[in-house]
Amino acid sequence: MAKLEVLTYPNPILREVSEPVKEFTPAIKKLAEDMLETMYDSNGIGLAAVQVGELKRMLVLDTRPKDPEGDEDLSELERKIKQPLVLINPEIVKGEGKTTYEEGCLSVPSFFETVERFDVIEVKAQDVNGKEIRFKADGLLAICIQHEMDHLEGTLFIDHISFTKSNKIKNTIKKSGYPTKEELAEKKRLAARDARSKEPAR
Ligand SMILES: [Zn+2]
Repeated sequence: MAKLEVLTYPNPILREVSEPVKEFTPAIKKLAEDMLETMYDSNGIGLAAVQVGELKRMLVLDTRPKDPEGDEDLSELERKIKQPLVLINPEIVKGEGKTTYEEGCLSVPSFFETVERFDVIEVKAQDVNGKEIRFKADGLLAICIQHEMDHLEGTLFIDHISFTKSNKIKNTIKKSGYPTKEELAEKKRLAARDARSKEPAR
């Protein structure tokens, strides 16, 4: 396996529409393995092939809690699905309800925004061998699948938020790039201080 480079916004490749996978070759299996390694190494829970520069309709996901005790947070549907998941040529055949989640993305590191998605989805896809799979998902897995599927159309989570917020983030990244680790630590420290100062006085 090999760790691949994750492209970040504003790389123009991220705006391209990915092509369907027609042949399930050993190269596709290798790409799926490399994508999984890249995702785990970056502490991600999902990755689309376009994020590593491959314009193929292909996703890898693993939304299971890292901490074994976190299993309690899994929904009944989530427990039924074996992860990690490799989804090729995925389609949402049905979407129901609405849910929101504070999303982030390996291609837009250090930014998080609340995005609205379907609550429950029915997915049709193929596995690495080309075999059709169909399942229903909810919870974090459903949110993550919808986020990753957006990448296949060249859409990023920051396209789903308000125009003003979206532009602010895009302009910040274009102007000053992504914050360094030190800058992020400082931001966290200040946020924690602000939160403390807002606590009611006793
Ligand atoms: Zn993403």
